[in-house]
Amino acid sequence: MAEFKNIIGHSKQLSKLSTTIKSGTLPQTFLFIGQKHIGKTTIAKELANILQCNNNCKNCSICTQIEKNGHSDTYIYDNIEESFKIDDIKKLQEKESQTSNSNYKIFIIKNAERMTTPAANSFLKTLEEPNEKTIFILTSSKPEKLLKTIISRTSVIKFQNIKKSEILKTVKKRFPEKTETDINNLFKYTNKTPGEIISLLKDVNKEDKFSKNIERFKIIIKNTTFSKKFKIIEELTKNKTDDEKAEHKADIKTILTLLTTHFREKLKKEPQNVKKNTNTLLKITQTGILLKQNVNTKITLENLMLEI
Ligand SMILES: [Zn+2]
Repeated sequence: MAEFKNIIGHSKQLSKLSTTIKSGTLPQTFLFIGQKHIGKTTIAKELANILQCNNNCKNCSICTQIEKNGHSDTYIYDNIEESFKIDDIKKLQEKESQTSNSNYKIFIIKNAERMTTPAANSFLKTLEEPNEKTIFILTSSKPEKLLKTIISRTSVIKFQNIKKSEILKTVKKRFPEKTETDINNLFKYTNKTPGEIISLLKDVNKEDKFSKNIERFKIIIKNTTFSKKFKIIEELTKNKTDDEKAEHKADIKTILTLLTTHFREKLKKEPQNVKKNTNTLLKITQTGILLKQNVNTKITLENLMLEI
């Protein structure tokens, strides 16, 4: 029987899934719940691999196509920036009703809470009467935003956060050239999930950028002069080209995430400063929301600097 390969942690959940596959009583709709970047989509793709290629061999054309999101009967909806609209569901339903030569027709919908209410209602109809060979795998880090009627039609698997030691061990094994300090640093300043750390390490550019943003973040939280903080804002908002603008936008997003993590930890550790830290967190969140609107980025970020 095919097995899950290269997955960090989640042994209980994987063994439950394996047992279900072996038993031949496969549910038609799974809902994978858990924090972002802990491996839900990776496991969903692995499950698709196991079901489509009986050996999960990682070599055949089926496995390669799934890996590249190019398998004709395995659909992966991972454009997480976009909401999932009724037209998307209609297209999905059309695909679902077509016959196929594969073992299954598998639909992986990442962040299923992106569905608009009309989309979710229409999807519910498909869940009530799916084709025999259809498998849906939904993932969500915000299940409270899903329709209860959808949840009740799924087989829910909850994924827990992975232990630090387990993540560090696996990352070190995959990237032996990295020092413990490098890995520890990444762990400290990220959301502490294997997905995020590995994606940073796989892409050297990303890692360089991340280190640079950590430096900027450290200056921002330091008790230093405003001119130093404003200099960073100047750097992040001076854009000569559209590419530069997009890059800086990503940098700002990273820095806001680092700040959120930092002040959340402070909130936990400093009961005497609850009010102050809550206010700062609120300001960071508001800044994030404002920046998505048509505001002056420089002034908005400078205002935030005055609050930190
Ligand atoms: Zn294969």
